[in-house]
Amino acid sequence: MGLFSNKKNPCILCGEATPRIFAREACGGKLCSDCGKKISMQEDILAGISLEDLRQHMKYRDENQKLHETFNDTRTISFEGEKLVIDDKQKLFYLTSFAGKNDPIFRFDELTGFAYIESMEGKLEQFIASKKLFLKGEERIVHERGVRVVYEYTKDYKEKNDSLLELYKEEYHGVAYSKNLLNHVLGLDDAMMSREKPVKQMYLVFEFNNPYWNTYRKDVLEPVVRNYNDEDKAKRDAGRREYIRIYENKLKDIDKIANAMKSIFDAQ
Ligand SMILES: [Zn+2]
Repeated sequence: MGLFSNKKNPCILCGEATPRIFAREACGGKLCSDCGKKISMQEDILAGISLEDLRQHMKYRDENQKLHETFNDTRTISFEGEKLVIDDKQKLFYLTSFAGKNDPIFRFDELTGFAYIESMEGKLEQFIASKKLFLKGEERIVHERGVRVVYEYTKDYKEKNDSLLELYKEEYHGVAYSKNLLNHVLGLDDAMMSREKPVKQMYLVFEFNNPYWNTYRKDVLEPVVRNYNDEDKAKRDAGRREYIRIYENKLKDIDKIANAMKSIFDAQ
């Protein structure tokens, strides 16, 4: 028995010794590091799960491991250093961002929603917050303060939301398409770019109908405007141009992910 393992608190699943510090906990007990690593589910679901359901989950994880052996990737889309991998024939996909080996594989029909969201602050935030969208006469989205949904697809709304994106391009100076944004930024209106982070947060949300994952949020690293408060206008403009270039590249990647998610909805 090692100095850092604890036989007095055996793993509730397999009975092996658990780590003395940082042992993963579930169902009121502790888990050994092997069992702990094998679990892949949302923390709030894990918090309410029964021991029997947890045992079932371990079987599910073994099956998931086997599924990786027959998984035949037909498309791989890289983004933010991670990957979305799709098997179009078996209608399966996984995201590498779930960490560790044995990433959870989802069936196409388990995907229930996808969105790319940006949040802003300052004047632009108020401008966006004042907007409401009505599509086909019904109120689809009431914006929270400073939050905009650039892409949103769900089982029921995928067609509507193509037009939602079109609407954004017109309404918000085409923030999804940076030529207009570039005009906006290099124009006289300094409201948006006279801060370090014009877009405060950028993130993807994946929603599933799956016993262990309802929502998975993937944060995108927001670019910053260098020299945004420099006295030298040439330096400020150079910082803005650099920002636009980085932002544009991120959106190109996000656009690929959004199109792939839409194709998964279309194939359900
Ligand atoms: Zn164990």
